[in-house]
Amino acid sequence: MVKVRFAPSPTGSLQLGNALTAVANRSFADRHSGVMLLRIDDTDAARSTRESADGIMRDLEWLGIPYEEGPVCQTGRIEAHRAAAGRLLEAGRAFEDGGTVRFDAERRPTLLRSDGSPTYHLASVVDDAELGVTHVIRGKDHLANTPLHVALAEALGLEPPEFLHHGLILAEDGHKLSKRHGLSSVADLRESGVPAEAVRAYLVELGLPRGDVHLDLARLRRLSLDAISAMSDAEFSARVGAPAALGPALRGAHDLNEARELARALLEPEAVQLGAAARPTLESFRELREAANGRLGEEASRALVKAVKAAGGDLRTLRLALTGRERGPELWTVVAGLPRDDALRRVDAAL
Ligand code: GLU
Repeated sequence: MVKVRFAPSPTGSLQLGNALTAVANRSFADRHSGVMLLRIDDTDAARSTRESADGIMRDLEWLGIPYEEGPVCQTGRIEAHRAAAGRLLEAGRAFEDGGTVRFDAERRPTLLRSDGSPTYHLASVVDDAELGVTHVIRGKDHLANTPLHVALAEALGLEPPEFLHHGLILAEDGHKLSKRHGLSSVADLRESGVPAEAVRAYLVELGLPRGDVHLDLARLRRLSLDAISAMSDAEFSARVGAPAALGPALRGAHDLNEARELARALLEPEAVQLGAAARPTLESFRELREAANGRLGEEASRALVKAVKAAGGDLRTLRLALTGRERGPELWTVVAGLPRDDALRRVDAAL
């Protein structure tokens, strides 16, 4: 059975490139009816934190990337790593060097640090084999490690997994994606209002790029719009934290933050004072809205706006009174989104 693993180092937040690795592993497992293991590569004690591990797991959940096994923390398997180093020493495939243990191979990489803790190379090879990982799918930044990982596995008498390396996500400017680019982590995208579906769709679309790819923010924006269009009004407004009736009024938003901002503007509009010329329009709206009980659906709201206009009303005036702004969502969506008493109160306040 195919078993893959996603093995982040908990030294910060989940970067987009790592999220690509996670999605690629998930897709591979699904395609082969296999399973995915989450392994937390926390052998670097100085840089690993619990918060980072928790954050990465939250980000995976937000993205909708489940795993069947784990999380397995490498620090919980240190005895197995030490035992492996001991076997290599015994077999003459490793040697001691100033308190450390090194692999007797071309690069002579460290396997155990002087404090007895295993390095990533040893821990990764031992865990991949002992946890039954059949395929390692990771970024090309690890390509240079692969011959070592295969040699180490063979020296231990373990069957090395198959390795697949994918291109990295670079910033739009071609540099390594980093914090200074603003949007570099899954959390950055979430906070900027991109729906999870869009991030996930973007990564699925990238698949297993052979070469490096440039982050395409325009594509991500397009996918955000698609994700929002695919949501029902109820789902959309719930994600935004707005009343369900506001759903149609928020449709013009390109992402969830824009929708939140729109909702806020509709729920807490600037107060406006309109002159005497506004009176006929607002009075006719008042009369019609008062007569209609409760919430208005799309049809009734459209009809009401039409009726105000037919009676000679000025819709710009009505919009100003209801929203405090000259521009905004289609007027019927505002009428549908506001409870009757709120609408009447706003109209009265403007007069
Ligand atoms: N913890 C390593 C990383 O995050 C995993 C590398 C690997 O997949 O072997 O880069």
